[in-house]
Amino acid sequence: MGGLVTEIKRVGFIGLGNMGGPMCGHLARAGFVVDAFDVDDAALARAVDAGARAETSSVDCAVGADAVITMLPAPPHVEQVLLGDGVIAAMRPGSVSIDMSTSSIAVGSRVAAAARERGVEVLDAPVAGQNIGAQAGTLAIYVGGEEAVFERALPLLQVMGNPDRIFHMGPHGAGYTIKLLLNLKWFIESVATGEILTVGVRAGVPLDRLYRALVGSPANSNFLEHDVRPVLESGDYDEAFPMRLVTKDLGLAVDLAREVGMPVELTGLVEQIHRRARVAYGDDAGEISAIRLYEDLAGLDLRLSADDLD
Ligand code: NAD
Repeated sequence: MGGLVTEIKRVGFIGLGNMGGPMCGHLARAGFVVDAFDVDDAALARAVDAGARAETSSVDCAVGADAVITMLPAPPHVEQVLLGDGVIAAMRPGSVSIDMSTSSIAVGSRVAAAARERGVEVLDAPVAGQNIGAQAGTLAIYVGGEEAVFERALPLLQVMGNPDRIFHMGPHGAGYTIKLLLNLKWFIESVATGEILTVGVRAGVPLDRLYRALVGSPANSNFLEHDVRPVLESGDYDEAFPMRLVTKDLGLAVDLAREVGMPVELTGLVEQIHRRARVAYGDDAGEISAIRLYEDLAGLDLRLSADDLD
C-alpha cells in the first residue's frame, strides 16, 4: 500500500474503442506506463501496437496503478467495471480513478462513495471532439472533482486533450453534467434545423436563399453555420458519432433533469425524435439523422450545389 500518489506515472486504461484507443496510444507515446484492457481482443491488440501493455482483466490494470482511466460506452459499463469487477477495490489509496466516459452523476456518486472508503480519489472527465479529436490529441475535457486532484491529473489530460480546452467545472459530477448539457443543446439544434429548413423549402423558398438568410440573421448558430453543412453538401449525417450514443446521452439528460426536479418538456420530445431516427436508420446511423427524418417526411433532400456554396 502506498501513500498519496503525487506524480502519475503508471496508468491503467479500460475501454479502448473509438475514443479510448487513440487516447490510450497518446499516453503510451508520451512515456506513461500504460496497462490496458478491453473485452474486445481486436481493440486491445491495437492498443498494444500503440505502446500499451495488454492486461487480462480490468482489475489487473488497476493493481499498482497511480491512475485508472475508464472510457466505456455508458453508465452500466462504468458501474460494472469500477464496482462490479472490483477496480476501485483493487486500486491503492491515494491513486486516482478518472472516468472519461459520458456517464451519469448517479453512477458517479456510487463510485465516489466506494472510492472514499478505499482512500481512492475520483474525477469525472468526459470529452468532446469525436474520434478525430481523440486521434489528434485535441479533445476538450470537462472535469469534475477536487482542484488538487485535477492538478495532479493535468499532465495526463494534456496529453489527450487541447491544453486550452481542459476545464475544471466544479465538484465531482460537474463534468458529466456539462457534457450532457452541451450534447443536449446540440441535439435540440439538430431537430430545430431539420424543422425550419424543411418547412422553408416546402413553403417555396429556395434552400440556398433560406440558408444564407438564416446564417446572416440573429437566428444563426454554430450548428447552422458549420455542423449541418455536411448534410447540405453531401448528405453526410456524420457517422463518427452513432445514434446509439446520441439516444444514450439524451436519456441521461432526461434522467439528470428528473434528478434535479426540473420539468423539461422540450428535452423529452427531442429525445423521442432522435429515438425515432435511430429506429428508422439504425444504431450506427450518423448523429444528424434527425434531419433525415424531416427530409423523408417532406419528400425532399436538403442539398446545396457547389455554386450555392460559393
Ligand atoms: P466504443 O463503443 O467505440 O468503445 C467502448 C469500448 O469499451 C469498446 O471497445 C468495448 O469493447 C469496451 N468495453 C465495453 N464494456 C467493457 C468492459 N466491461 N470491460 C472492458 N471494456 C469494455 O465507444 P466510444 O465511441 O469510444 O465512446 C466511449 C465513451 O465516450 C462513451 O461514453 C461515449 O458517449 C463518449 N464519447 C464518444 C464520442 C465519439 O465521438 N465516439 C465523443 C465524445 C464522447
